[in-house]
Amino acid sequence: MKDILYIVVPCYNEEEVLPETSKRLKEKVTGLIQAGKVSEKSRILFVNDGSKDRTWELISALHESDPIFSGIDLTRNRGHQNALLAGLMTAKDKCDMTISMDADLQDDVDAVDRMVEEYYAGCDIVYGVRSSRKKDTFFKRFTAEGFYRVMNLMGAETVFNHADYRLMSKRALEGLAQFKEVNLFLRGMVPMVGYRTGTVEYERGERFAGESKYPLKKMLAFAMEGITSLSTKPLKMITGLGFFIFLVSIIMLITFIVKWALGMTVAGWASVICSVWAIGGLILLSLGVIGEYIGKIYLETKGRPRFLIREVLNDEG
Ligand code: UDP
Ligand code: MG
Repeated sequence: MKDILYIVVPCYNEEEVLPETSKRLKEKVTGLIQAGKVSEKSRILFVNDGSKDRTWELISALHESDPIFSGIDLTRNRGHQNALLAGLMTAKDKCDMTISMDADLQDDVDAVDRMVEEYYAGCDIVYGVRSSRKKDTFFKRFTAEGFYRVMNLMGAETVFNHADYRLMSKRALEGLAQFKEVNLFLRGMVPMVGYRTGTVEYERGERFAGESKYPLKKMLAFAMEGITSLSTKPLKMITGLGFFIFLVSIIMLITFIVKWALGMTVAGWASVICSVWAIGGLILLSLGVIGEYIGKIYLETKGRPRFLIREVLNDEG
């Protein structure tokens, strides 16, 4: 009995790429089934993240034509991370391992074989890591690599140049299911699950068709999400800064007292104005960061569902 593989693909307005993606994934999975590497109950699970185009119609048609295709339709657009989690949590109860990948074929499909091998070699999580970003635009590469560096500097543990192309075993997914947080940053949460992990390198290609669903605004929001959901280092940095400024003010006080005792004239109003501005700015900055965290506590206490599934198409034959 071979293990069941589910390939989970979040899709948002992907009608242009779906025909090709489904074809390539079907070839891959049937190949693996024929080679006796995975069970014939293996599936390709598309998650429709509230697309405004014909994505769900295409997924339904694929499911009609071949039971190897499964689908989940979310009630509305919840973003990449939530859509992915919806797929993983649905697949968890039906399979032994999942591989998550983007719908645009940027992740090299052939890395799947090596991931499955690592799984049989005993890994519960296998990270797909980009060997190079030659095909990304300079801007995307610069911002993306800067993002991983800042993340690690801020104390958030992430795998360098790993996006959401990864294999997870059933028990790793069960571990992930215990993270009840609403602010999702999966590539930071998965390392917290633990278990034996492996990495597989692959070349990241260009988007097959259509345009990126991550414009700069979403990318920045995602980076902010990552830092604030994973790390409290910014708060610690503020404490450190506060301590440092307090120390400086004491040293200033001592110098002024000494100068006064020696009968030297005290400096004029400029220093007063400067310090008022500096401290005012710092207080505002600190309040802003603390506010970020309070905002998160606020959202967590609401305990909103992370996704609501309208329909599940799945043949377990
Ligand atoms: N995606 C999604 N919901 C969204 C935005 C994106 O499910 O709100 C999916 C999208 O369909 C794709 C994956 O997330 O499969 C990655 O998006 P994209 O390729 O546009 O990002 P990029 O590769 O440009 O970072
Ligand atoms: Mg992409």
